[in-house]
Amino acid sequence: MKKFIAFIISINMILPLAGVVCFLQPAATAIEAEMPYLSLPDFLDEIEMDLNEYIAKMSELSEISEQWLYPYFLEKNSSRYEAYQQANPGIPYENVIAYVNVGLDFGPYSDIKDALDLAEVTVLINKTFAMPSTWTISDMVDIGTGHLMRAEAAEQMKLMMAAMTGDGLGRLYITSTHRFYQSQVTMFNNALNTWGREVAEKDWARPGHSEHHTGLSVDMLHKPYETNMQSARFQESDIYAWLIQEAHNYGFILRYPEAYQDIHGYIFEPWHWRYVGVDVACAMHEMEIVLYEDFYGRYITSDVLHKVREILLFELPFMIAAEEEERRLAAEEEERRLLAEEEERRLTEEEEERRLLAEEEERRLKAEEEERRRAAEEEWTPPVTNNATFILYLIPVVLIAAIIFTAKKINDSFIRDTRKDRLHEFLEKKK
Ligand SMILES: [Zn+2]
Repeated sequence: MKKFIAFIISINMILPLAGVVCFLQPAATAIEAEMPYLSLPDFLDEIEMDLNEYIAKMSELSEISEQWLYPYFLEKNSSRYEAYQQANPGIPYENVIAYVNVGLDFGPYSDIKDALDLAEVTVLINKTFAMPSTWTISDMVDIGTGHLMRAEAAEQMKLMMAAMTGDGLGRLYITSTHRFYQSQVTMFNNALNTWGREVAEKDWARPGHSEHHTGLSVDMLHKPYETNMQSARFQESDIYAWLIQEAHNYGFILRYPEAYQDIHGYIFEPWHWRYVGVDVACAMHEMEIVLYEDFYGRYITSDVLHKVREILLFELPFMIAAEEEERRLAAEEEERRLLAEEEERRLTEEEEERRLLAEEEERRLKAEEEERRRAAEEEWTPPVTNNATFILYLIPVVLIAAIIFTAKKINDSFIRDTRKDRLHEFLEKKK
């Protein structure tokens, strides 16, 4: 019976514990497992911030805690960061994280994945992320030159072209905007046949890996296109100089900057500009982030968004609550300490008062004692303590002495007289 009761008790203790473990287990693995795609707009909606607030929050996080020093650091990539850093010691660590987050460490066409953010204007297409051949764009419009771009990009492109005209720049030639998958297949194959694989791979993107599929890219020239050489000279034009200064205000960025050819794996294309949205382009300009992969790996990658979402919605409030609780406890402790000090002061004061009262009492008793002693002394001392008393006592003594003396005199004289009389009587008789 005892054994049975012990069994029941142990089961009752283990079951809730098992419940906790079972509850925690899937949550822990869910965080480590591949997360579903999270888009930047959905993420911003959820954390109730705009892009600028989100970026500001990221730099705030890096100041709050050592563990969030690089908020875009993904635990699952840590060994890849290390390897990439060792292979590229000249690249700052924050860039290493961003590049690895977008798979640049695998090299071009090595770890190809379909892009998941195809609907976003921030979509990343490069030699890692491909656009599937089946993807179709439904919001394409003419930018006024017979070239098609996605509606939002087209609107901004029109504004930008108007601004260029307003600033008195030379005529702008659009050579390419949206390009269908099949067009890229034809172009790439032609290049392969004409120039061979090495040149084709260097100068042309494989089908699915051209940004022109997105309807967000535009190739611009200052003269009608003639040769590749002439395209390269676009960077010497006033239009290019203007774009470098102004394009971000219309949401456009230079997609393949010269200094990063080894990183992005494309040749420098001064003519190729890409619409990423005004917020993103301005943020990049302000932060002086030149390479889109750099920005994307820090602030747009779905895994980073998941991590930051977790921090902002759960970990940070929990940390703030814990800190508040700690502050509250510290305040309580301080209050208790002050009360204890106050109580100690009160007790010390009471003790002091008691001590003074005791001293006072002692003094009073001593005085009484002294008084009594003096009184006793006064009682036992002969009352000849001063001349007046002495004289007062002397008077009767003198009087008595005088009386005795007088009496003796009288008596003596009487005796004498008596003797005289007797003598006289005797003499009389003798005669
Ligand atoms: Zn282009």
